[in-house]
Amino acid sequence: MIQLRDRTSADKILQRLASMNLNLTLMHVCGTHQDTIVRYGLDTLLKDCGVKIRQGPGCPVCVTTATEIEEAVTLARRGKTVATYGDMLRVQGASGSLADARSEGAKVKVVYSITDAVKLAEQTEDEVVFVAIGFETTAPSTAITLLGKTPGNFSVLSCHRYLPPALEALLGMGELKLQGIIEPGHVSTIIGTKPYEEISKKYRLPQVIAGFEPLDVLMAVYMIARQVQTSKAIVENEYSRTVREEGNPRAVKALSEVFKPGDSKWRGFPSIPRSKMKLKSEFAASNAEERFSDDLKTVIGTEFSEPAGCGCDRVLRGLMEPQECALFGEACTPQRPVGACMVSMEGSCNIEYRYRRPSLAQSR
Ligand code: SF4
Repeated sequence: MIQLRDRTSADKILQRLASMNLNLTLMHVCGTHQDTIVRYGLDTLLKDCGVKIRQGPGCPVCVTTATEIEEAVTLARRGKTVATYGDMLRVQGASGSLADARSEGAKVKVVYSITDAVKLAEQTEDEVVFVAIGFETTAPSTAITLLGKTPGNFSVLSCHRYLPPALEALLGMGELKLQGIIEPGHVSTIIGTKPYEEISKKYRLPQVIAGFEPLDVLMAVYMIARQVQTSKAIVENEYSRTVREEGNPRAVKALSEVFKPGDSKWRGFPSIPRSKMKLKSEFAASNAEERFSDDLKTVIGTEFSEPAGCGCDRVLRGLMEPQECALFGEACTPQRPVGACMVSMEGSCNIEYRYRRPSLAQSR
């Protein structure tokens, strides 16, 4: 665990929380929040104050389904150049991962942005498919790229998702009784505060948008606790230094010009209404699913099961901690990941393993 830089301020918030006699279960939906929470041991400090925090479906790589991975793997094996973020390489589809396809000779390139993928397309006559993952944070760059001029051999496999429908689905499933949600600062920078309001009203649930420093997270927990104790259920913005009520209208406009909401499964979830960013028909030529529909006809719409024994579905719904999975740290490690949550640097299992492996080893 890393020492908090501003321990005095953190202690003040923790003392206040401790004096509130709390028994709260909260969720956040962000890999960066989880990194902060585990890196600084905030979950342990908060447990002593009566607050449990679970990570929900907030890791873009983790929520991408085996079907979507299989689509990318199939395209690579059928001769397309697949451009993807490094985190996606080792996630398993039904017939292996993109890394497996690459070791068989398929052209799979790691890129750091969609701009890199476009440059790749400009330098080759091959078909280049960019695997576009992420929430409202990363989707605007995909939208803005497609609104501009792209090479004729460039297309996008859109796995982008809208976050609020997943929150709604999670709460609607009712598996976990939550007293509040910490919302991600970066998604909120784009969508603003309003999309969360209906959720607070419908489920009588406090939500606080938070930044990524340890004090941001602690403050967000305190703001939720204060709402619970005063019987409020509203959306508050702890990250007001960055997030505005209206979000980023230019980015929201770009999203609405390029994408339309479609129903989609998320890893660990049944189909969530209007949760996937599907490319509008005007962008059919840039839509890898349409452009290569013959290559993908046995994959699109087919459901593939998770690896045997993998608990990622329950981890992503906040029902299980990584250490509760029988495979954690033994059969499943970042070097030999079984499930998506161990592959991605934003996945709960990967984060838990990276920061707490020594204590895990001691406890066995
Ligand atoms: S430890 Fe591995 S197998 Fe278990 S839930 Fe995490 S990623 Fe899945």
